[in-house]
Amino acid sequence: MSRKINIAIDGPAGAGKSTVAKILAKKMGLMYIDTGSMYRAVTWKALKLNCGFDDAEELARLSAVTSIELVPDEENYRILVDGIDVTSEIRKPEVSQHVSLVARIPEVRENMRRQQQTMAAPGGVVMDGRDIGTKVLPNAEVKFFLTASIEERARRRQEELKERGYNISLEKLKNEISKRDYMDKNRQTDPLVQAEDAILIDTTGLTVQQVVDKMVAYINKSVK
Ligand code: C5P
Repeated sequence: MSRKINIAIDGPAGAGKSTVAKILAKKMGLMYIDTGSMYRAVTWKALKLNCGFDDAEELARLSAVTSIELVPDEENYRILVDGIDVTSEIRKPEVSQHVSLVARIPEVRENMRRQQQTMAAPGGVVMDGRDIGTKVLPNAEVKFFLTASIEERARRRQEELKERGYNISLEKLKNEISKRDYMDKNRQTDPLVQAEDAILIDTTGLTVQQVVDKMVAYINKSVK
């Protein structure tokens, strides 16, 4: 059997990466891996242990000794931190507000990247994040970079949070997303940037299906 392809999807918060990545993975028989969930997992543990978010050494150590498992279930997979299921905990606003402070630390990134590369080594993954096309899977067969206007991204986040029982104003979400974007784009190590060979898709005003169709059309055209 020939090796399955790897697909890298990067872009800012709320650009629709995880929604389309999940559908694309299912459609193509690949495994979806949300690398943001791994940074969120470390952040969840740091909050739990009351770590200082400016203590890079402590956060680096924490990321090295924390076990993060992605356990497949019927939907997608559960995230376990040291054996504890944190799948919904890591989506809480408090984690979102602190995650970029953890993700900016080089040693944390190195620890996450190593695990991500191991998961993708056999091929057959759709992996989304901020540095997948540039650093984690520079040789991925297909790379996409998804964007959308800040208004639309905040609106999508609001919907998503509403479904989980959180009512947060658009202004607050716009603020949080802009802050996170700024930190992710301006950090020294592996900042959020479009890989040279990534296909840019602006998802503003597009339905999920339209984005997936665009991606599938590109994959069919470019992967032989
Ligand atoms: O994708 P999600 O919004 O859940 O990612 C949460 C945060 O994790 C991002 O804002 C970013 O700080 C960090 N991240 C990263 N590199 C990745 C994936 C996520 O720095 N590959």
